[in-house]
Amino acid sequence: MNYINQHTHTIYSPDAYPDATIENYINEAKKLSQNGLMFTDHVDIDSPVPMFFHYSNYDQYFAQIKELQKTTSIPLYTGVEIGYQPKSRETINTFINTYPFDLVICSIHVADGLDFYYGDFFNNKTTEESIKRYFEVVLDTVENFNNYDIFGHIDYITRYIKEIDDYDFSQHQEIITKILKTIIKNNKGIELNTSKGYQQLFPTFKLLKLYKELGGTYLTIGSDAHTPSKLQQNFQYALRVAKQAGFDNIYIYQKRTPVAVSIDQLLIEEN
Ligand SMILES: [Zn+2]
Ligand SMILES: [Zn+2]
Repeated sequence: MNYINQHTHTIYSPDAYPDATIENYINEAKKLSQNGLMFTDHVDIDSPVPMFFHYSNYDQYFAQIKELQKTTSIPLYTGVEIGYQPKSRETINTFINTYPFDLVICSIHVADGLDFYYGDFFNNKTTEESIKRYFEVVLDTVENFNNYDIFGHIDYITRYIKEIDDYDFSQHQEIITKILKTIIKNNKGIELNTSKGYQQLFPTFKLLKLYKELGGTYLTIGSDAHTPSKLQQNFQYALRVAKQAGFDNIYIYQKRTPVAVSIDQLLIEEN
């Protein structure tokens, strides 16, 4: 498919698979007729999770991509997935402004200094309280941080909530509306993250539709691949969902500028 996955992790992310080399992604992109690659490795500054304490040396990272670009016809774009924490805002800004990124994804992997993956964030909270607190942190982020293009997996908290499909969207709609209005007002976008598996995406359909209804334009599709075989996982499904929510275009980013791609041109007719 001739759309460039906008969320890809390589071995420069601490949680990527060993086969997630840039070279293997280039081969996979050729196989899938994806005419470009966007790398968005993790940079989680001041993460409380030991695995994410260190991130790559981006001088070397950019140098390596430049070197590889000489030997491949596929355009290589360099983005980053920033794990945002308010206490680290200045360091994050300095880091982002140091490098010529094509795309900056802002994600919340940790809230109140507590990690989701290991469950610390959920201790002493009910499910509804966890969801509520998560969205408060997202709102605080979009109100106080502007140095990003796309908000990553905006309802990420739902990954960790078993009864996700039953989560009471209406109970959180007010704060979600505030978040989306702020994102739209600041000319930022969100992604349709396909990593969760077939027929379940981040965000949920209700949130995606609300984003469109509020005037949201910029939408990317990202598989959040940590291995080349997931480069375009569930993309046709995601395109149909985006279309159903009212979108005609999805976007790719170059030099932090959105470029529209027509969904109709990417959809493969189902027989
Ligand atoms: Zn993420
Ligand atoms: Zn990611």
